[in-house]
Formats: sequence, structure tokens, C-alpha cells
Amino acid sequence: MLTTPEVIDTIGGLRARLAEAGERHAGGSPCVVLVPTMGALHAGHLALVRRARELGDTVVVSIFVNPLQFGAGEDLASYPRTLGADVVALATVGVDVVFAPTSRIMYPHGPSSTRVTAGNVGTLYEGAARPGHFDGMLTVVGKLINIVDPDVIVFGQKDAQQVFLVETMLADLDFRPVIEVVPIVREEGGLALSSRNRNLVEEQHAAAGALSAGLAAAASVAGRGVAAAQQAAHALIDAQPLVKLDYLVVVDPQTFLPVATDHHGPARMLVAALVGSTRLIDNAALDLN
Ligand code: AMP
Repeated sequence: MLTTPEVIDTIGGLRARLAEAGERHAGGSPCVVLVPTMGALHAGHLALVRRARELGDTVVVSIFVNPLQFGAGEDLASYPRTLGADVVALATVGVDVVFAPTSRIMYPHGPSSTRVTAGNVGTLYEGAARPGHFDGMLTVVGKLINIVDPDVIVFGQKDAQQVFLVETMLADLDFRPVIEVVPIVREEGGLALSSRNRNLVEEQHAAAGALSAGLAAAASVAGRGVAAAQQAAHALIDAQPLVKLDYLVVVDPQTFLPVATDHHGPARMLVAALVGSTRLIDNAALDLN
């Protein structure tokens, strides 16, 4: 039976609730699964939660718009905050606990002076456009791991660079959780679901479809090589005047660095664009054989 999740906004309260859950599962420690989010939940987030439900006994969804990962002039203030609706949505997929702290709870002394640094890959692509973004993201993920102590932490493939950097942090800093990555959930027309899509007016929304269409076109010609894949994506994206491309790059999934022009084997195409003032990202696997 699905019940409304318990909403907890303090670190002590969350730890006490999880200790209780541990006692109830006497005889074997429960598998705690954490799904970090910034709220304004959509079907993409719910796919992560459904996967978490399959994997664990206790599912914790964090909802926290982390100021550390927003730069000056970015959309921190206007980022959609819809906690009531989020809790209702989470009740439909079976979540035990929603951890929804304030910034004061997470950063009682102001922004933490200690940061996790994301390294070289953290300065590329999204990191080039949003300096400090990935340091802020990894810092809050590290904090959430220490607060929740999950066995599994779930992320979406939508944020491919984030997945790569979290995997790297887990390995480099010997964090205990294993990562589970869930495929991108898309609208029928192909546009990847994003909390920021609600900022798009109708014609921007239609134009934004060029990103996923470009990725699909690239994937379909990937057998002809990197240049053919890039050309196919550019042909569709560049034809849309409302879509201002920031980067379109093909990376090696092992290193997340751009592939050589003669690269063979698995790769991933990453794309980012501004549609109006809304920044959208998307990506797709390419089989460059
Ligand atoms: P956010 O609230 O945007 O920080 O996203 C929280 C988590 O949901 C991240 O792991 C995202 O990658 C994931 N996510 C967001 N949109 C999608 C989507 N369309 N498909 C799959 N995962 C997603």
C-alpha cells in the first residue's frame, strides 16, 4: 500500500528516522536508497524513485535547491519550488522519507568553505558554462551521503557529466554507496523532461525538440564516424533560430574527454543550448563502429 512520505527537514530528525528503520529490519540491515533531487518533480524523477523502490527497503528522496551549485546571475531565485505537489507525486510511487532541508540546515554557517573539487572534467562542458557548479553539486552529494548513509544512490542519465563526476568522486573518496543510473525519460516528441521545461513558451518548447532530434539523427549515422554524427546533429539544431547552441561534443565514456576524429567504439554525444533564457542539456549514446 502506498502512503504519504514523511517529510523531515532536520539532519537529526532524518538520522533518528533511519535508525528506527534499521531496527525494524532487525536481522539484516535494510537497503537504504537515496534519490537526490532539487524538486519540481516530473516523470523523469519518478522513474528514479521507482527504480529506488525496486532496489531498497527504505527510499529517501532529498529535495534541496542547493545554492552552492548556482552561479551569480543563474536561476537560483526563480528555480521552481513545489514541495507540496512533489510530496503528493512521491506518494504515488512509494517513498518512505522526503528530506527537505533549508539552506540554513545544510549550511548553518553560510556557504561551506570546504568543497569537493570536481577536477579537470568538472571544468568542461557544463562546468565551463557554469564555473563552480560541479564543485557545489559534489559537495552537497557528499553531505547527503554522510547524512543519509545510503547503500545505493540513484541518478539520471539526463545529467551525464554529473553521473561521471559522482562516479569518480565515489571511487576517489571511497564513499560506500553504489550508484544506479536510470535512462533519460522523454516527452513523446523526444524532448528530455526537465524541471526547467516549464519555463518554455509554446514555440520555444517546439523548437527545443531539435536537441533530441539532433541526437537521434547523430546516433542513426554514428556507424559512419564522429564527423558524420556531428554533422547530422548540427543540421537539425542549427536550423532552429530559437535554439542557441552552447556546445555539441562527442566524449569517450571512460574519460569524458572529447574523442579523436577516428574514434571507434562506444561514445556519448552531449549537447547544451539556450532556448530563450532557459538552459537545456541532453545526451545520447553513440556507437562509433
Ligand atoms: P534535478 O532535480 O534536476 O537535480 O534532477 C534530479 C535527478 O533527476 C538527477 O539525477 C537527474 O539526472 C534526474 N533527472 C532529471 N530529469 C530526468 C529525465 N528526464 N530522465 C531521467 N532522469 C532525470
